[in-house]
Amino acid sequence: MLDKPFKDANIVIQTIENHGYSAYYVGGCIRDYLLNKKINDIDIATSALPEQIQEIFDRVFPVGIDHGTVLVRHNHNSYEVTTYRGKTDDRDKINTNNINDDLSRRDFTINALAMNKQGEILDLFNGENDLNNKLIKTVGSPEDRFKEDPLRIIRALRFSSQLGFEIDKKTLETMIELKPLIKHISIERITTEMIKLFTGNYFNISFQYLLMTEIYNELPIFKEHQQLIKHLSHNVVPFNQFSEVISYFYLLDESISINQWIAAWKESNQVKREVINLTNAIKNYKINGINAILLYELNIELFGSFIHVVNLHFKKSLNYDELLKQKKALIINSRKDLNITGYDITRLFPERKKGKWIEDIISKIEKEVLLKRLNNDKKMIKEWIKCNRLEIN
Ligand code: ATP
Ligand code: MG
Repeated sequence: MLDKPFKDANIVIQTIENHGYSAYYVGGCIRDYLLNKKINDIDIATSALPEQIQEIFDRVFPVGIDHGTVLVRHNHNSYEVTTYRGKTDDRDKINTNNINDDLSRRDFTINALAMNKQGEILDLFNGENDLNNKLIKTVGSPEDRFKEDPLRIIRALRFSSQLGFEIDKKTLETMIELKPLIKHISIERITTEMIKLFTGNYFNISFQYLLMTEIYNELPIFKEHQQLIKHLSHNVVPFNQFSEVISYFYLLDESISINQWIAAWKESNQVKREVINLTNAIKNYKINGINAILLYELNIELFGSFIHVVNLHFKKSLNYDELLKQKKALIINSRKDLNITGYDITRLFPERKKGKWIEDIISKIEKEVLLKRLNNDKKMIKEWIKCNRLEIN
């Protein structure tokens, strides 16, 4: 009998089969299942076309319908269901592709495994053997496969980072030879893979490959600043998130602005905010060490990243629980905890028009309270405002 995630998913395969189509589990979920790793998402390949899947199931979302992929929701689980890809990929009405064609189009042998609902593995390219030997190897000729989609060159590094696997000799040689093709790949696709590479459990292994192959010379920013990556040479441990990667490299060379990093890697405003928050905390740390204002301003989700970047830049080991304890012990945790409001302040100065000055006063009070130079008490804060009136005006 199959394990839990597949047990739940079997009904989806069964239902597709009941309608006269074939369907298999494919890709990363089989690889991770055989490696006894946690399975991220279950992908299904089928002979049915997306519109046929839409007819079979009630809740189907067209997440990638142009590539033949729909998302099927069933019993609170989601499954990506993709029509077999194959030699004839110009989505004509009749799909003649089969599972064998589909597997032959996949990137690496360890990703080209399929499994039926009985749990029988379909392994056309010796993928199980490569899994046991911890080897990343293209399906078929590396030259053809990397020319067909050069992103696979970066994906090989990314899987070495996530799995700790070695890259097959011929595959690796071809990666080095064909790496200039990476420039034809969209940045978004590169970024997705590189984030997985920087955060993989075996980043140390993929980092050695990155240096040895000089593939960094094909990556945004690193290609114009070829010494940058080499600062990481000692003791590389995985990053927690991409904002941490940018913050680390930005602090090595501030002539490349945070905006440049975000634009070159086509990253989101959310990541930009994280980089700024993290970088400010590290600059504050450099001058003052750990202090109340730093702990107050630094987002809790970035604590792990902060500790890592401090370690990389200052060779200091900070303790996560200790920082958290100190953050919890702060007099205030947000502006809401401050015993004064913008409204209170306008009432102190009825003659003044509302404006940025209110924000400036609150921000000053916030700091005074955090540094324990002022009690968080309404009366005392009002006194303080009156005494500091000159400075504020
Ligand atoms: P993860 O758990 O990180 O999602 P994954 O193996 O599921 O790993 P995906 O990028 O989600 O990786 O791809 C799913 C599957 O689709 C792969 O296992 C592989 O079989 C196939 N695949 C994805 N991208 C490519 C590609 N560029 N070329 C060939 N096959 C690919
Ligand atoms: Mg996946």
